[in-house]
Amino acid sequence: MTTRRTILAGGAAVIAGLAAGPGRTQEAPLPVVATFSILGDLVRLVGGEHVRLTVLVPVGGDAHSYAPTPADAKAVADARLVVANGLGFEGWVRRLMQASRSGAPLVEAATAVKARTEPQVHNHGHKHGHDHGGLDPHAWQSVANARLYVEAIRAALAAADPGRAAAYQANAARALVELDTLEAEIRAAVARIPADRRRVITSHDAFGYFAEAYGVQFIAPRGVSTEAEASARDVARIITQVKREKIAAVFLENVSDQRLMQQIARETGARIGGTLYSDSLSGPEGPAPTYIRMMRHNIRTIAEALAPAS
Ligand code: ZN
Repeated sequence: MTTRRTILAGGAAVIAGLAAGPGRTQEAPLPVVATFSILGDLVRLVGGEHVRLTVLVPVGGDAHSYAPTPADAKAVADARLVVANGLGFEGWVRRLMQASRSGAPLVEAATAVKARTEPQVHNHGHKHGHDHGGLDPHAWQSVANARLYVEAIRAALAAADPGRAAAYQANAARALVELDTLEAEIRAAVARIPADRRRVITSHDAFGYFAEAYGVQFIAPRGVSTEAEASARDVARIITQVKREKIAAVFLENVSDQRLMQQIARETGARIGGTLYSDSLSGPEGPAPTYIRMMRHNIRTIAEALAPAS
């Protein structure tokens, strides 16, 4: 396997697109579509250079309310495997596959996750209503769930491309070790935060799995749309809560409107703790260009903001 990987690493991407049917050359990477950047990075970890990956929702984009493009339809039509999150996250993906007459299997990476039910009122600041089927789709925010994603992706790649199953197995095994290290780092960082300070405000209910896994309480201003002007009463309620519970920091998010959080910070004296990445990676120059670096960035940002003032 090592030898093959070395040979492929150079020019394999150039002959992409030739892969079709059982007679294809082993050197052609498997065309795979992932719906959004965080998932795409996990596919890349397992697929490596054996996969020619197309990510549909661009970095910083909103997968909940995404409108697929003609280029997306073509990528899906050409794909041998389409990987989605599931749990109602990408309501548009089945329609896209039908419209493009894709014959590729659609695999939902979160299938094995123990799903959380969605908070009562979902507040993403998205432009239209959600259809999550009552489930919280943001399962990747727990590293234990990311391990389940890696295993689902490994199985899907092996089924779509059995000739390289051993390579996918080896890559997945390596990814799982890295995820174990990441999870230990997160737990150690949370343990250093005094228990009574493990509470933050975010604009978007995207951190439920993180909260449950690591014991940091995330409070999102529910019932407040970041689209419309928040009502004075809602904002007053949040401000009262921040002051009463002595919440030290409010966080911005890369996919949500930032004005409400800035207002809450201004009026309570809570600090803006920084920007958390919830539903999208950053670009390659940003602080969260991969899943592992995104999780590391988020916990560092939280830990720094919640550290007691010295
Ligand atoms: Zn979201």
